[in-house]
Amino acid sequence: MYADIIIDISHEKLDRPFQYRIPEALEETIYPGVSVKVPFGKGNRILQGFVIELKEQAEFAEDKIKEINSVAEGSVAIETQLIALAAWMRRNYGATMNQALKTVIPVRKKTKAVEKRLVCLSMEENEAKEYLAECKRRHYTARARLLEELLKYPQISYEIVTQKLNVNTGVIHALEEKNIINIIREVDYRNPIRNIKNQGYQIALNPMQKNAVDAVLQNWKQGIQKTYLLHGVTGSGKTEVYMELIANVIAMKKQAIVLIPEIALTYQTVMRFFGRFGKRVSIINSRLSQGERYDQFLRAKNGEIDIMIGPRSALFTPFANLGLIIIDEEHEGSYKSETLPKYHARETAIERAKMAGASVVLGSATPSIDSYYKAQKGAYQLIEMKQRVAEKPLPVCHIIDLREELKNGNYSILSRKLQELMEERLSKKQQIMLFLNRRGISGFVSCRACGHVIKCPHCDVSLSLHRNGRMICHYCGYEETASSVCPACGSKYIGGFKAGTQKIEEIVKKRFPGAKTLRMDFDTTRKKEGYEEILSAFANQEADILIGTQMIVKGHDFKNVTLVGILAADMSMYTGDYRASERTFQLLTQAAGRAGRGEKKGEVVIQTYHPDHYSITTAQKQDYETFYQEEIAVRRLLSYPPVSHMLLVLIASPEEEEAKDAALAAASWIEKKQTEGLKMIGPASAAIGKVNDIYRRVIYLKEKDYDRLVALKDEIEVFAKDLTDKKKINITFDFNPMNGM
Ligand code: ADP
Ligand code: ZN
Ligand code: ZN
Repeated sequence: MYADIIIDISHEKLDRPFQYRIPEALEETIYPGVSVKVPFGKGNRILQGFVIELKEQAEFAEDKIKEINSVAEGSVAIETQLIALAAWMRRNYGATMNQALKTVIPVRKKTKAVEKRLVCLSMEENEAKEYLAECKRRHYTARARLLEELLKYPQISYEIVTQKLNVNTGVIHALEEKNIINIIREVDYRNPIRNIKNQGYQIALNPMQKNAVDAVLQNWKQGIQKTYLLHGVTGSGKTEVYMELIANVIAMKKQAIVLIPEIALTYQTVMRFFGRFGKRVSIINSRLSQGERYDQFLRAKNGEIDIMIGPRSALFTPFANLGLIIIDEEHEGSYKSETLPKYHARETAIERAKMAGASVVLGSATPSIDSYYKAQKGAYQLIEMKQRVAEKPLPVCHIIDLREELKNGNYSILSRKLQELMEERLSKKQQIMLFLNRRGISGFVSCRACGHVIKCPHCDVSLSLHRNGRMICHYCGYEETASSVCPACGSKYIGGFKAGTQKIEEIVKKRFPGAKTLRMDFDTTRKKEGYEEILSAFANQEADILIGTQMIVKGHDFKNVTLVGILAADMSMYTGDYRASERTFQLLTQAAGRAGRGEKKGEVVIQTYHPDHYSITTAQKQDYETFYQEEIAVRRLLSYPPVSHMLLVLIASPEEEEAKDAALAAASWIEKKQTEGLKMIGPASAAIGKVNDIYRRVIYLKEKDYDRLVALKDEIEVFAKDLTDKKKINITFDFNPMNGM
């Protein structure tokens, strides 16, 4: 046996593994992740290295291969676990070991110490309170917001003030000029807030929350570590449950990782964790430079912190004694990596927890079908919290049938009901959010008269309209010519469904000339600060109506928003992939949750051509269980995940013919193997058939047995090596892909 070994990764480049022979005496003790001592270089200096892979055959001349010296003693280095995790990711998601290693271990990069700024209150508390009252009187909402927070936390980092509290730099400068606040600059910067007045922790869990915490604690007491799915409606107090569990973990001298989608990591959430755990918490986000992230990871490794909060990559925080991983909003698509290895943070977290002897808590108001299915099967323990903490009623939700609107001569994208409610809100100076459900790559074809959507006869996903007038299925490649009349009702109002936020803004401005609008979409947020600026302007009530894509539905609490309009609920229902209904249900439920966050009652208008579709009717009632039952039946019928597993094989080449031939060759090779239970669809052109002049073909494989699918991937890798060595072809893999390719 041979082992590929990466030499002490903190000193050498990650680029290349070295092969060593495993002496017979050590065969039992060497596996990927174990740290070993090996002779290295001309002088055979003994260095530490990490085993990343075992090989049965030598890949170099026998006499050039050196032997492993020994297993490193007391090698509890945290890297060991992370390397083992990288090896697992490499195998399960398909990537090179280097790609996997670079994902789990941040590259050590010396960064210049950056100067950081803290915003501090520079006047007495009483004075500040007076000034706050004045700001409120004059409706200086941004100033009031900042002062209110500074009265609670007298020193807050500049980034948190601008990015999370949505106070812009102009306001900060103005307050600085008036000597109400001052800015401290310092180099060695550790915590985003300082001088927290210890308020003591006030909240006592209610019985439902206690129940949830006890379920986990009881298992811990018996040494049982497992994965839990905490299904709790919005506002049921999940975050309090997380914090209570974390407090218990810390009491056991262990550490916790909390994953929260970046967009949902709001000021309120951040401060709740700081408020309770103070400086033992660190938060990372995607804006941190590699060096800064490394810095935070180093603090974790050195035991300076116990809790790391952040998006996907926080999962790889090198805690030595990890006890708990929490994944909030576990259904979020951002937990799936779009770069190689295309890992899913949920599965990877469960694997890391297994290695570390830790537990995993997945939390959501709308769990992924995947997780709920696993909970039903007993793989995860389901914990439910069905009531909200404060008995705030859910917003009233109207479903508007757009076919009826057309029948009644309303050709506008705004239904009569929505217009009426908008009028009323504007007159009351309350705010409105209009949400354009825009997901999906190219337009599906639908009938405005009857709502009929043209679907693939084989895959039950919508066909996408291409510029050449053909409608194509991106799973199996089926195509037909776009028709000019509806095959269901004969109407001529049929075509690609297209509408942009810009167009909607124009329509709204025309209809409500007095209203001020803000638009948030890819165009308006491209500027670095664009996103924050828009949110802060809306939070300061500088506009009446916020129009946007799915970016506006998450995590933001605008207390004055009492009406949410969902303009085309169907958009996400026909994105040409099997998760479309699931995504629709989640988006609608979340968007509806934006209405009535404050004291005033909220209303929601869902506009759709399919008022009877289960993802719409169940979202209206926030009825997750019924949605799940309907959806899982569809997945079962069509062998889609989670009932079956799916592997996307993406074949790319700068030569179109080469890509086509290779895809055909791979397909016929797979077919010849005649694997029982395996279903193959394709090859077909990818949804985006050409990216940067690289042609892309796809093959989808469905298989009930996950391990068999992984094994098949390994075989395809070997088979593909022949193809890729000779030509400019590149083959990559994606398990249970999230987005149509
Ligand atoms: P979720 O994460 O499920 O949306 P949160 O944990 O954010 O719910 O709780 C919603 C609100 O209720 C928060 O403002 C929180 O401070 C408050 N809250 C939660 N649990 C309690 C409790 N036991 N007593 C009082 N207030 C609570
Ligand atoms: Zn029709
Ligand atoms: Zn098809």
